[in-house]
Amino acid sequence: MTQNNSIEAIRDLLSNAQKIMVTSHIRPDGDAIGSLLGLGLSLLEAGKQVSMVLVDGFPSAFRYLPGSNRILRSAPRNIEFDLTISLDASDPERLGNAFGERGVDLNIDHHITNVNFGKINFVDPSAVATCAILAEHLPEWGLKINNDIATALLSGIITDTIGFRTSNMNSKAMRITADLMDHGANLPQIYTEALVNRSFEQILYWSYALQKMQRQDGIIWTTLSLADRQLAGYNGNDDADLNNLLSSISEADISVLFVEQNNGHVKVSWRAKPGINVSSLAFSFGGGGHPAASGVDLQGALTDVQNTVMEATFAHLKQTKDEQIS
Ligand code: AMP
Ligand code: MN
Ligand code: MN
Repeated sequence: MTQNNSIEAIRDLLSNAQKIMVTSHIRPDGDAIGSLLGLGLSLLEAGKQVSMVLVDGFPSAFRYLPGSNRILRSAPRNIEFDLTISLDASDPERLGNAFGERGVDLNIDHHITNVNFGKINFVDPSAVATCAILAEHLPEWGLKINNDIATALLSGIITDTIGFRTSNMNSKAMRITADLMDHGANLPQIYTEALVNRSFEQILYWSYALQKMQRQDGIIWTTLSLADRQLAGYNGNDDADLNNLLSSISEADISVLFVEQNNGHVKVSWRAKPGINVSSLAFSFGGGGHPAASGVDLQGALTDVQNTVMEATFAHLKQTKDEQIS
């Protein structure tokens, strides 16, 4: 664990602060939203003034989480925060400038590629989710876990592990899950909301990408364009969870998804089968992630980004296989 501060130091930091801003990464996933609400609600319970910020807002599919209506798209200008906290983000660019010039005091994350950009960094790559870190440590940091907080935290664990099935899943995460259930989290309900229920628009959006799907040498890839998004009426700017479907294809050693963004960027996502590490590949492009799931935002047109990234991905898989043989 990369950690330049102890449990006591973080407890003191949290207890001494009154005006606190918490944020997480752009295109927030379940772990981003769950950790934001989990920590944010527990700080509110402790009597703090808390601003929970997600610059992209969040997909309406997460509205089921208690407290989600408190999430703001920008920090109130009239508040001078005495503590800023980043959750589930491996580098400051991922925060979408939520803190402005203010910078990050406390960086809590589980990405192996975290660049330790906070004044205090609590980074545990062995944790299955940032929510798992919070569930483990909130009580030591002097904060309570109630029913709503447990629900938010379990939601992040379930989404980041895709229902407890990612290769980094471990018994500690199951114990944490059991504890969260004891705190009132309803596992079947959260599982269904987070991983089973889908909107018509989401599936329609997928269908455009599925028609374009390609395969070669153990790699599956496809794109989601802005036009696809508009045609489908999908209102998020994320992958609509399509990555999970692509990575379920048996022959995909690696799957790659390109999602066109409306600022001249393309979001690239890699998923890999156990034994193949795509985090180094993502990092080489300036992104990051986990061995089995990584991403990057690249400037450029969809086809150009696709060509560059696919060339590097083929080379990366070939190199990995060559190393496995030798
Ligand atoms: P995604 O493909 O967006 O679902 O993300 C997969 C993993 O890669 C997550 O753990 C993300 O935090 C990480 N990731 C995605 N995009 C980026 C990026 N632009 N920079 C750094 N890490 C990223
Ligand atoms: Mn995340
Ligand atoms: Mn995460």
